[in-house]
Amino acid sequence: MRRTPSGGHTAVVLFTRDLRVRDHEALAEAVQTHEVVAPLFVFDERLLRSVQSANRIHFLLESLADLRQSLRSLGADLIVRRGDPVGETVRLARATGATTVLASADASRYASDREERLARDAARHRFELRLLDGAATVAPGALAPAGSDHYRVFTPYFRRWRETPIRAPLEAPRRLRIPDGLDPGELAAPDEVSSGTASSAVPRGGESEGRRRLRRWLRAGLPTYDARRDALVANATSRLSAHLHFGCISPREVAFHAHEQGAEGFLRQLCWRDFFLQLLAANPRTTREDMRPREDHWNDDDEAAASWREGRTGYPIVDASMRQLALEGWIPNRARLIAASFLSKSLYVDWRIGARTFSDLLVDADVASNIGNWQWVAGTGADTRPNRVLNPLAQARRFDPHGDYVRRYVPELRGLEAGSVHEPWKASRRLVSSAYPPPIVDHGTAAARFRARRQRSTDRVSGSS
Ligand code: FAD
Repeated sequence: MRRTPSGGHTAVVLFTRDLRVRDHEALAEAVQTHEVVAPLFVFDERLLRSVQSANRIHFLLESLADLRQSLRSLGADLIVRRGDPVGETVRLARATGATTVLASADASRYASDREERLARDAARHRFELRLLDGAATVAPGALAPAGSDHYRVFTPYFRRWRETPIRAPLEAPRRLRIPDGLDPGELAAPDEVSSGTASSAVPRGGESEGRRRLRRWLRAGLPTYDARRDALVANATSRLSAHLHFGCISPREVAFHAHEQGAEGFLRQLCWRDFFLQLLAANPRTTREDMRPREDHWNDDDEAAASWREGRTGYPIVDASMRQLALEGWIPNRARLIAASFLSKSLYVDWRIGARTFSDLLVDADVASNIGNWQWVAGTGADTRPNRVLNPLAQARRFDPHGDYVRRYVPELRGLEAGSVHEPWKASRRLVSSAYPPPIVDHGTAAARFRARRQRSTDRVSGSS
């Protein structure tokens, strides 16, 4: 092994979206096998250019500040660089004489390209590259049905996933020694890396906040999760998605505690996260291409897409969802389902347009979960009933029975009672602000048109095969 000037064997730990010190396999292994560890984060210029979301950038910066604080309290620091993560990692490895670079493996094409480039450079510069689990509870590729390298359908995947033991979380290292004489580098200011302003509703980023939320959730939220998770105003879900996306908390740790409490419904949702990760890892092109092409000829209707995006469809439950998204950078799963079904099926606008909007606004936007869910809803992905269309009125009556969600986010309808708030076109005009638009489509007609188009394309596909 090569030695640092200070005499210890050195490893670099490259942090990406695993911004924590607890239950971090790569960090734990580095500390166990090396005397000196250089924790590195690289502001990836290419990635930053493509991220439009001020909410996510804000969350990322808070998470990095928290990680730096944790590492400092362990006697170390976070080394921060800017540029190409592979180039900067190699540069740091060479500067410190590191023999090993460790990182958490990830599933997207962008991440696998980075991993492949690191592997090539590892051979060239003679350091060992160790990619460890960390992004999922059960890593992509760990479970596979007979005859395939991944699962395409959720239920059998969930069955196997639940049979897989979840190990106890790893402790944070007690102490960390970093190489002497390194400039730690500055964390970027928000306006250096993002042009917009984050929503004040975005949760605080970082492991400390993630752990606080997790503790509170396990104590006070989890017991009523199954009964209340779909109620739109209840705020009865964990709100851990952004912390999970940035790895401020370990998904395995969340699953471990949920398993201890026998929280089957919640574990099922965590499993969806892993399901979509393994789906993306096996089908990296699905960020752009349909996983199951249905010969869709989507409506090329910019105006309809803009009405949807701006919450002006005339369907209060859809508009409330989209306005909450714009305002707060987060919406409940049920609101995502309703809004996504409306765009891709009722308006028959390409799901990619919707996925892009979500990705720009959601603080928890995650390639695997966003794309996987959008394709699922649009019927081009893993849904085994791809042509079902959610009825926005039925959904509204069921999940917002008193209309509180709509009234909270659609001020034009605040004067309406539960009986009419979801169908303002039936209410007295005196009670509805004239600023609120009439329905953009008749839902029944739109749903029938969608099913007919899908039926024709299904016939074409089966006719040509
Ligand atoms: P909880 O209900 O408390 O669930 C706990 C955790 O389980 C979540 O934090 C999340 O990590 C995972 N989870 C729950 N539901 C799902 C699901 N359907 N798919 C995958 N993981 C799930 N989730 C994202 O994290 N990022 C996204 O970009 C994203 N895009 C979505 C797009 C659409 C069209 C839809 C329908 C869903 C999307 N989801 C996405 C999934 C889900 O809506 C969110 O994870 C959830 O609402 C986050 O809130 P929570 O943390 O309170 O969830």
